[in-house]
Amino acid sequence: MIEVIHFHKFAAQQPGYFIKGTAANQIEQVSIDSRKIQNGTQTLFVALVGTRSSGWHFAKDAYHKNVRNFILPSEAKAPELLDSLSGANILFCAAPLEALQALAKLNREKFSGPVAGITGSNGKTIVKEWLAQVLSEKYRVWKSPKSYNSQIGVALSALGMDSRHQVALLEAGISKPGEMQSLEAIIQPELGIFTTIGSAHDEHFEDLETKIAEKCLLFARCKYIVYRKEHTRIHKYLEQHFPSERLISWSEQTGADYTLALRPNRNQTKILLIGKDLTTYTFTSSFRDPASLENIRHVIVSALILGMTPDSIQKGLDLLHAIDMRLTVKQGIQRCRIVDDSYNNDLAGLEIALEFMSHQRKPEGRKILILSEMRQEGNRQSVLEHTVRLLKHYQIDLFVGVGHTFEGFRGIFPSGSTFYPDTATLQQKISELNLKDDLILVKGARTFQFERIVGSLEAQVHETVLEINLNSIRHNFYHYKQKVSPGTKVMVMVKAFAYGSGSAEIGNYLQQIGADYLSVAYPDEGVYLRDKGVTLPIMVMNSGARHIELLLQHRLEPVVYEVNGLRALAMATREIVSIHLELDTGMRRLGLEEKDLNEAITLLQEHPNIRLAGLFSHLATADEAIHDAFSREQLALFERLSQEIRVKLPCRPLCHVLNSAGIIRYPEFGMDMVRLGIGLFGVEISQMEQEKLQPALTLKTVVSQVKTLKKGTTIGYGRKGVMAADGQIATLAIGYADGYDRRFSNGNAYVQIKGRKAATVGTICMDMCMVDVTGMEVREGDEAIIFGQDPSLQYLAEKIGTIPYELLTSIGRRVKRLYVLD
Ligand SMILES: *Cc1c(COP(=O)(O)O)cnc(C)c1O
Repeated sequence: MIEVIHFHKFAAQQPGYFIKGTAANQIEQVSIDSRKIQNGTQTLFVALVGTRSSGWHFAKDAYHKNVRNFILPSEAKAPELLDSLSGANILFCAAPLEALQALAKLNREKFSGPVAGITGSNGKTIVKEWLAQVLSEKYRVWKSPKSYNSQIGVALSALGMDSRHQVALLEAGISKPGEMQSLEAIIQPELGIFTTIGSAHDEHFEDLETKIAEKCLLFARCKYIVYRKEHTRIHKYLEQHFPSERLISWSEQTGADYTLALRPNRNQTKILLIGKDLTTYTFTSSFRDPASLENIRHVIVSALILGMTPDSIQKGLDLLHAIDMRLTVKQGIQRCRIVDDSYNNDLAGLEIALEFMSHQRKPEGRKILILSEMRQEGNRQSVLEHTVRLLKHYQIDLFVGVGHTFEGFRGIFPSGSTFYPDTATLQQKISELNLKDDLILVKGARTFQFERIVGSLEAQVHETVLEINLNSIRHNFYHYKQKVSPGTKVMVMVKAFAYGSGSAEIGNYLQQIGADYLSVAYPDEGVYLRDKGVTLPIMVMNSGARHIELLLQHRLEPVVYEVNGLRALAMATREIVSIHLELDTGMRRLGLEEKDLNEAITLLQEHPNIRLAGLFSHLATADEAIHDAFSREQLALFERLSQEIRVKLPCRPLCHVLNSAGIIRYPEFGMDMVRLGIGLFGVEISQMEQEKLQPALTLKTVVSQVKTLKKGTTIGYGRKGVMAADGQIATLAIGYADGYDRRFSNGNAYVQIKGRKAATVGTICMDMCMVDVTGMEVREGDEAIIFGQDPSLQYLAEKIGTIPYELLTSIGRRVKRLYVLD
């Protein structure tokens, strides 16, 4: 929420063309996504997308939701649009993002409490989250949601603070020169925190100094700048460019404003604080790794500057947990799925989590929200009313509130809602909720320790999981999409359970992020997607007239690859059916050949109910440069044949040829659509742009047992493994039935445990295997990475003479798929 803004007044001061309508112009919320609007009359809608048609489309959608105040791109201005937005106040401007930022700046300037701006290469989000946690012992804190630190993210973050909050923490991230200035103008921090400097985005900066200089623009008007003196480049730069009384350094050694030395203990770390006036204090933390301890010390110094006492800081530190900032979907008891967001709780975060939940496969049962009271927001009625609006908007079937503050407000929640005074009571009575087949979002403030709720809801599973990172999926999707021209559609191949990653989840997610088409191999795969809520068009590669009922009923578009098949289809139905005609241009798998064309065209002319939706071919060698001439012949033949068909038929089918490797090597042949497959998962088969993709799949398991063995001991079936020296082996909970191929036996592959490589020993068993962990301090329960960043899928595939496709599609069904979003 923002402090109330009068849009007329604001718009009058902005460049652009303003239409003052008759509608009320008091704004309490700003939205850039028309799908998320809940309270239209008080919302200002800003269309950031710079094309005329998208601006229109979303503006109309927002108007239907009662929005009457708009900032739209100039190119959207047209009489038709104005007609459909009658009465509205509209500011047309060349750069809606700049207007959004101006609005954010205005809201920031109304805020009277201190504002901290956090920048640096690593640790920004953690420092922000932890500092917020510690400060909330004393203040009501606003913080940027998640890692909203970009040009848009910072603007939205600054639009969230209002008079309920006493302190605000905002993150600022930049990827190229020139960006920080506009972020500073919005945040205007009084306290600056510079976490670290590293190599991220180096390609856009001349050198480290330039990058530090750009980041330091955030501190232009800071009264205090917190940093660690051991980062010498940061220290030098700040010393040269800022007055010394504004710099607050800390260091392990004496000589900085604060000395914060570490004394590792058995289960915790003591942090010795010596101030400039030689006052001392000892903090303790359960963290032991250097990165967390560095972040914690940034937090301590910043909290002291913001007026907290060491004692209350310590109270906050006790509650810190390693943050898994990612939203995770977990397998629950009674076939429930749990969206675990038990780390913290505020309105902005709640909305993000509900949005994430709405993108999940629809549950057979209910959508449930288990929510604690929100400590940081105060608990004014308006916050609860907003919560109730969110429940409605995201169609939550059951609300479960935990905490005393709900007490006086039960009446405003939907009937059927249930309330518990505290976490322990809910945990005791959880069976009252009759959970079964439900999708449950668990979201609670840190003090409520909702991880205990998640613990009781989580199913005990076989410990091998395939983790699918949806952020990486999105990154890879857009990488391929931007290779071809903007008008080219993207079909994603989700055959074979989406290459093993789960077609329903991936299909639903792709639908959200803007895929145009999906494709599967067989009709039942398509039916499954429809059952799970996928509405995109779906092409089915292998089906025939005998499936016609099924195809029609589920709006599946069959591929036709021979004249007889086309004839049979024509006989089978008079209903309208969309098909894709496959042409064989050299793959020699399926497809019509040149000699069949005339007959096929005649059939299509005689049966206008058979709609030619697509016309395609498949490249046999798209990934191999040495077969370039062959691929180009295929492409040329396709262009000639498709041209012939198109002149003889009235329709305008989508032409598509390129698979993942083809998109990289022949982007100029994107035509109307491309067919993305393995690249979505971060495997770049042509090996030309691997570094631009992110591995989206990680197969992990756990150590079941560790054994210390003498030199010469033999290991496993057939005694194939032998200890070369005294040492330790670990037994892992994965075997060939999970897809860990037997050919990885006897040191032919390694797994990663705690960042180190452990080679296989002996033969891989059906459900288990052994690896050498000599000298690695591995314990039962430790995580082992089978593939992911390292070792990569490509590396493993090469090791046993196969391809990543085969490894992916062999991952056993009993391996749980876990979907995460950073
Ligand atoms: C599987 C498949 C694709 C995708 O191939 P990738 O190499 O995974 O990109 C494209 N087109 C057809 C016809 C396919 O069968």
